[in-house]
Amino acid sequence: MSKLISVVVPCYNEQEVLEALRERLTNACEKWGYDWEVVAVDDGSRDTTWEMLCRFQAEDPRWRSISFSRNFGHQAAVSAGLYHAQGDAVFIIDADLQDPPEELHRFIAKWEEGFDVIYGVRKKRKEGLIKRFSYWAFYRLMARVVPFEIPLDSGDFCLMSRRMVNTLNNFPERNRFVRGLRAWAGFKQVAIPYERQGRAAGVPKYTPSKLIKLALDGMISFSGLPLKMASQFGFIVSALAVLGILFTFFQRIFSGFFDRIGLAPVPGYATNVIAILFMGGVQLIFLGIIGEYLIRIFDEVKQRPVWIVREANGLEPKAPPR
Ligand code: UDP
Ligand code: MG
Repeated sequence: MSKLISVVVPCYNEQEVLEALRERLTNACEKWGYDWEVVAVDDGSRDTTWEMLCRFQAEDPRWRSISFSRNFGHQAAVSAGLYHAQGDAVFIIDADLQDPPEELHRFIAKWEEGFDVIYGVRKKRKEGLIKRFSYWAFYRLMARVVPFEIPLDSGDFCLMSRRMVNTLNNFPERNRFVRGLRAWAGFKQVAIPYERQGRAAGVPKYTPSKLIKLALDGMISFSGLPLKMASQFGFIVSALAVLGILFTFFQRIFSGFFDRIGLAPVPGYATNVIAILFMGGVQLIFLGIIGEYLIRIFDEVKQRPVWIVREANGLEPKAPPR
């Protein structure tokens, strides 16, 4: 029996690119020599994305799709796609053709060699300077703070073996940072460098606030370091305070000497205010960090589903894992 390869495509308001995606992806799939299916996940689009996906299914039953009851976010869409994909290996690619379908056969070759995760690494990004810098900084920071190996500059674009997909499907968390979970799970992983294109059409569906949420999810669900920073920082500030106390003390006792070197004690309103503001700020920042963890813990204990399926097309929707 020939093996099946699934392609998971999260789509949020992607009507401008879907035709081009269907053509290029179908062409690529036909060349692999495996059976294939597409699992498109409509993440609560407000445009005609769902109608188009339904039409694709009618014209080619291998284009299956599900739609969410509302916008649950990219990571939820990817997770739902992985959950519904039947393949012996499963791709994740963006709808906007930034990840070129023509490159996918290189991933399959690695999978045939026995790798479990074959992930794309961007050689170059054709995006704005600020966005490129933010991504660059994020992945480097992430690599420093997480206690396991995480590849730099690698998004969700990848091919995963069935056992890796099963592993991910069994992860219970709700705030899913798929590329992090994927690295955390281990197995044999290999990078494939590729050139990330600009969007084929339409505007980015990741708003800055969604990107910040994604970055925080990644950082917080894989690292306790931000919390530990509070105590480390506290020690440093306290040590500085002790030095300050000693200094003031000697300034009083040896006021003659400090007079001569130009460091005579002056009424210290300014220093007081600065110290108070500084400590106040530090405490608020760390309260905020604790809050970010708390929000996520709260999300996890509520045990709500990660997504809700409204309709499905060409596949049987399964209740999301609990
Ligand atoms: N996406 C989604 N839900 C969202 C936001 C984005 O499913 O809430 C999809 C989107 O349709 C695209 C992929 O996630 O296929 C990546 O989004 P986008 O291209 O906007 O992100 P960028 O490439 O700018 O990081
Ligand atoms: Mg994109």
